Amino acid sequence: MRRYLMAGNWKMNLTPSEAKKFALELAANIKDLDKDVDVMIAPNFASLAYVKEAIAGTPIKLGAQNMNDNEKGAYTGEVSADMLLDLGVEYVILGHSERRDIYKEDNALINKKVKFALAKGLKPVLCIGEHLEEREAGVTADVVKKQLEEGLKDVSAAEMANVVIAYEPVWAIGTGKTATPEIAEATHQDIRNILTNLYGAEVAENVTVQYGGSVSDANVDNLMAQKNIDGALVGGASLKLAPFTKIAKFEKV
Ligand code: PEP
Repeated sequence: MRRYLMAGNWKMNLTPSEAKKFALELAANIKDLDKDVDVMIAPNFASLAYVKEAIAGTPIKLGAQNMNDNEKGAYTGEVSADMLLDLGVEYVILGHSERRDIYKEDNALINKKVKFALAKGLKPVLCIGEHLEEREAGVTADVVKKQLEEGLKDVSAAEMANVVIAYEPVWAIGTGKTATPEIAEATHQDIRNILTNLYGAEVAENVTVQYGGSVSDANVDNLMAQKNIDGALVGGASLKLAPFTKIAKFEKV
């Protein structure tokens, strides 16, 4: 049985003091969860230690927004897997479209990060998704297939138990344009089929595949009602206490 993962990507928002205050308030709202639901928040690196303290003793899990693919050394400005683990991080978001588009991360680098995270015992959240021109050209399934094949290269079937996929159509991120539940579900079904071809049906059935792109408290229940949508990766709405609380505690309809 796959698990639901409701996650907040705070991006480069909230100072450490603001992040701590928000996390304490969120933690007060989320003291218990259904047994098949996980909630994760991914603050900026500078806030990880504060947020870890704020969510201690609650079911909220800690995530990071990126990670370097090397053990340690002369990589100015970078953060290693061991540093994240030392701060209690469990999940690491990799291949977010902002990393791909702004920082030119390609599938090969993202794959190195995914494998390194897994080898270290971190759970990668591998982000994939098409740009608007690709959707309009009808090549969405090809784009996500390539991102999955190259991003998961040499990741074993056993390791897939610790991998989360986040399908985030780039045209829906931060734009207020959510994919309809039906559009999202169609691509999630394609993703499940691609994972089936790569790893077999049993592994593919158990992979958590999140949807991301303007998820809000108003649309979360309908998105989560889809058969192949197993969670949400939330940007903007994860910075608002009441909406994110509602997203984390979505209604199963
Ligand atoms: C994101 O950046 O991962 C995201 C989905 O952002 P938003 O929810 O703001 O669209």
